[in-house]
Amino acid sequence: MKISIRRRLTFSFLLTVILSIVTAGLISNYMIDGRFNQYLKQTHENKIQKVVKIAEELYDSSEGFEGIDPFEMKRYAVLEDIYIEIQDADGSIAFSSGQGHLVHKKRMGNMMGHMMGRRMMERIGEYIEEKHPLYHNNSKIGTIHIGYYGDWNLSEGDVGFKNTLNRAFGLSVGIALLFGFIISIILSRQMTTPLVKIIKAANEMKNGNLGIRAEVPTSTLEIEQLANSIDYLAETLQQQEMIRKRLTSDMAHEIRTPLTTLQSHIEAMMDGIWDPTTERFKSCHEEVLRLKKMVDSLQDLAKLEQSGQQVNKSTFDLSLLLDRIVESFQVQAQKKNIRMLSHIAPNFTVHMDPDKLKQIMYNLLSNAYKYSDENSSIEVALTHDKNNIILTVRDEGAGIEVKDLPYIFERFYRGDISRSRETGGAGIGLAIVRGLVEAHNGKITVESVKGKGSCFRIYFPIEMLVSKKES
Ligand code: ADP
Repeated sequence: MKISIRRRLTFSFLLTVILSIVTAGLISNYMIDGRFNQYLKQTHENKIQKVVKIAEELYDSSEGFEGIDPFEMKRYAVLEDIYIEIQDADGSIAFSSGQGHLVHKKRMGNMMGHMMGRRMMERIGEYIEEKHPLYHNNSKIGTIHIGYYGDWNLSEGDVGFKNTLNRAFGLSVGIALLFGFIISIILSRQMTTPLVKIIKAANEMKNGNLGIRAEVPTSTLEIEQLANSIDYLAETLQQQEMIRKRLTSDMAHEIRTPLTTLQSHIEAMMDGIWDPTTERFKSCHEEVLRLKKMVDSLQDLAKLEQSGQQVNKSTFDLSLLLDRIVESFQVQAQKKNIRMLSHIAPNFTVHMDPDKLKQIMYNLLSNAYKYSDENSSIEVALTHDKNNIILTVRDEGAGIEVKDLPYIFERFYRGDISRSRETGGAGIGLAIVRGLVEAHNGKITVESVKGKGSCFRIYFPIEMLVSKKES
């Protein structure tokens, strides 16, 4: 059976309160009981000693126990709730207080016993009689019998004290339970109200409303993190949805354009309107190439999405590799009279995948070239800081609009659509770059100003730098 968090929290809290009160109560009751009984025993023993001492002091060497004032002695017995009987050395009774006054005590004791439970009744109800020898000048002069009801002859005050203690315990249990209940309800409500809101938001998202946000003001860290994660999820899904819609329309358009051209060309030639010249076949061939390029891009993407990128690391000189890439790019750059600037720190021996690095550089440089105007410059730099190897590709080209910046690493996302079409991109170059960088545990960032240029920076963990010889 499923149980709601609110109910579970309330029950758990109450159970904890009950268990702690009962445990604390039992332990303190047990300890107080022990101390109290010890105290009663001590008091009782003192009382008996006192009676014995009084009896011994009343003895007279010549008159024996004759001089005892029976009224005074009886008064004492009544006061102390005990039966006193003094026998002289012959065993004849010199004084007896009688047990009449104890009857009342017995009855009262039973009554209290009913009020306080069986244990107390047993203690008070049982009649006990102790026998002690009496001495005078170290010789035995007789015996004294002291009788009473209950183990240690509990006085009314003692019973009252125990009673109060039990009542206080009961009262504190009740109050603690009440507080526990109120606090548990407040606490569980504080926890569950934001959770319910988050569930509502998640359900809305499930039903396609990706604009919803789980805005829950809460002071609970984990709940806040959960709400943030849900919001992030909604945001990402919304972006993906937007990219997907854009991709569908882009792809349809991209495919339709060459197909329409091919269709019209071929139909015109079939109908004899056009002569099948080499020029016309060349034009058709270009359209087929365009289609093929698109399919190749899709294949690259599929590879990217395969279970992570396979990285074949080896140790090589990254500075040298970059120098070569820049050099080989010079030829292409010259077509637009673009200057290739190189700020590559020398002798960086690294442990990475050289092929993947080449691909990263090729994609970034191709973009820089594609989006650069004539007579501008492209810079490639390699440095490092405490934690990272830093690779930079900077251009003075078209730049990227602020609204496009968060999405350019997404698959099939293209900034300026018309311009991209012109440049023939399919919007996956940067997605591949990011995939390859992340496969090296690195990260890529971009800074760009529309019309001024872009700067792509890649950070690889410094652990990949095997050695760096200063030259
Ligand atoms: P594409 O094949 O369209 O170039 P990419 O994934 O390589 O696809 O790039 C995505 C988008 O990022 C591009 O459409 C373009 O708008 C923008 N972009 C990438 N590199 C640059 C750059 N160096 N300068 C300006 N815009 C760029």
